[in-house]
Amino acid sequence: MADQDIYDSPTPIQAGLKCCCPRCGEGKLYAGFLKLAPKCDRCGLDYGFADPADGPAFFVMSGVGIVVTAVFAWVEIMYQPPVWVHFVTTFPALIIGCLATLRPVKAWLVASQYINKAEEGRFESLGRHDYDPRRL
Ligand SMILES: [Zn+2]
Repeated sequence: MADQDIYDSPTPIQAGLKCCCPRCGEGKLYAGFLKLAPKCDRCGLDYGFADPADGPAFFVMSGVGIVVTAVFAWVEIMYQPPVWVHFVTTFPALIIGCLATLRPVKAWLVASQYINKAEEGRFESLGRHDYDPRRL
């Protein structure tokens, strides 16, 4: 019986926004700010499969950076404020924006890994490029 038949699994977006287990939707995903728990405290799903690597940081830096830089540029062109205004608005916006979105984005990527059964690629053959044992 598949997991989907037993559990009312959330979508990856829902699991990401709630930072919860991608299988049951109730257990906690994190054991710290960004440290994953070893397993779900409700359904027991082992989070060993989860390896989002640098994905969350890349998406958060890119998304928040583009939005905040666009607002910074718009404010600079429209109002030309003194530089201290940017220091007290732009830098906190970057830091708070990244910290606020990192957990849900990481949870979303972990849930996507679980639902799509994504894992590291493997070679089927370590032989030569033109070697096919079925042709012998
Ligand atoms: Zn669970």
